[in-house]
Amino acid sequence: MNTVPQATRVRFAPSPTGFLHVGGARTALFSWLFARHTGGTFILRIEDTDFERSADDMVTGILEGMRWLGMDWDEGPYYQSQRLDLYARTAARLIDSGHAYRCFCSREELESRRASATEAGTVPRYDGRCRDISRAEATQRMAQGERAVLRFLVPREGVTTFQDAVFGSMEFANAELEDFVLLRSDGIPTYHLSVVADDLDMRMTHIIRGADHLSNTPKQVLLYRALGASLPVFAHLPLILGPDKTRLSKRHGATSVMAYKDMGIVPEAFRNFLALLGWSPGEAAKQPDGRDREIFSTEELIQMFSLDGIAHSNAVFNNEKLAWYNTEYIRAYDATRLLPLVEEEWRAMSYQPSRSQEEIVSAIALLQPRARSLKDFALTFLAYFGDQFAMDEAAVKKFLSDADVRQMLAELGQRYATLKNFTEASAEELLRAFAAEKGIKAGALINGARVALTGQAVAPSLFAVMLCLGQQRVVRRLEAAASLTVE
Ligand code: GLU
Repeated sequence: MNTVPQATRVRFAPSPTGFLHVGGARTALFSWLFARHTGGTFILRIEDTDFERSADDMVTGILEGMRWLGMDWDEGPYYQSQRLDLYARTAARLIDSGHAYRCFCSREELESRRASATEAGTVPRYDGRCRDISRAEATQRMAQGERAVLRFLVPREGVTTFQDAVFGSMEFANAELEDFVLLRSDGIPTYHLSVVADDLDMRMTHIIRGADHLSNTPKQVLLYRALGASLPVFAHLPLILGPDKTRLSKRHGATSVMAYKDMGIVPEAFRNFLALLGWSPGEAAKQPDGRDREIFSTEELIQMFSLDGIAHSNAVFNNEKLAWYNTEYIRAYDATRLLPLVEEEWRAMSYQPSRSQEEIVSAIALLQPRARSLKDFALTFLAYFGDQFAMDEAAVKKFLSDADVRQMLAELGQRYATLKNFTEASAEELLRAFAAEKGIKAGALINGARVALTGQAVAPSLFAVMLCLGQQRVVRRLEAAASLTVE
């Protein structure tokens, strides 16, 4: 007997009817982590047979989102729209084996029957009336140009069962499942047919997807059985809810993954956050004090990921938690690694820094502990990267409205111009001596200088800022304080 375990094959199969949203990205991430953990193959398949709703730019958006999150794929992207032959062949097999039949009921007929069922208080379900049409008659009617869909013949009795790696043993009464459509009258397959045909053809071993597909699974299980195939392992992921415990939607804020990039979230932070949305590494990841660890590198996530750790209850998307991850990751980055992300922000706003690469990197290092988003580097921190920056009005009003202070700052600037050895210590010493000489509190000068130098009321230690900006810039900006008009 062959005891070598079968190599895993897992897919992410988005429908390109919208951008990569948070739920889809989490499904992709869990599938990817599972494939990488098991040394298997991760396949990307675009489910674009809904021609009216699928769009090319959505595919581009999905691929962009996956790349941003650092998920690479080993096969694909395959496009279902290019695989229609396979679905037609699979449908033909199901007809031949008596598992599928043509249904000639028109849309209007179906709708009116549905309406009467609803009115009568029963669940509207296709009643299977075309089951009795013989194959010969069906073929003849179609040859005469009648339009028909292809339906799967669901047994009227019995139950359909499967094991779900997350939800356990699942059982559905067949009587509750209607004879679902496999091919529309234009020959285009429905989701159930194409997904099973592809998952079989691509030899998927595990199907990891959102719990919203749980109710589709019995129908697909029936298809696997009808095709004489064994079942893959199903693992349905609990839903993602907004803070108000309703299903995550636009009402809760951004749902598209790239919107988070646009907010200045770094990809590793988002990935780490997403990985823990409905999965936990369990005991292995407890800290010595018993608290759960929350920061995991990609390598750690890959190493620890298992289907066992998937939660059974729904996950809640917590924006503050995401902001926390972002702060932690930005802080922990090596400044040189943060640089390209910051530069991308600058490019997007057509900003060009006027300082050397080396100076920029050391400014980033100085600012990292205070950044909450990459956006800070493109908005509040601009004074550190060049001479074009806006002054925060409230800060100016608060600390520079006294003309004497502004005058003194300009004079302080002139003193700095003559300072021989410009260091944090000497800059501080000079300022304190100057304040004593003028009989003003050093604090007032420090606050004023901070605004004059950075445009902001909050900044790292003033003397570290001075060193970061360099002597000449400090002199220039302090001198400029004198000509500032404050209303
Ligand atoms: N195209 C389906 C979706 O986007 C995929 C479902 C599945 O993974 O089977 O929901």
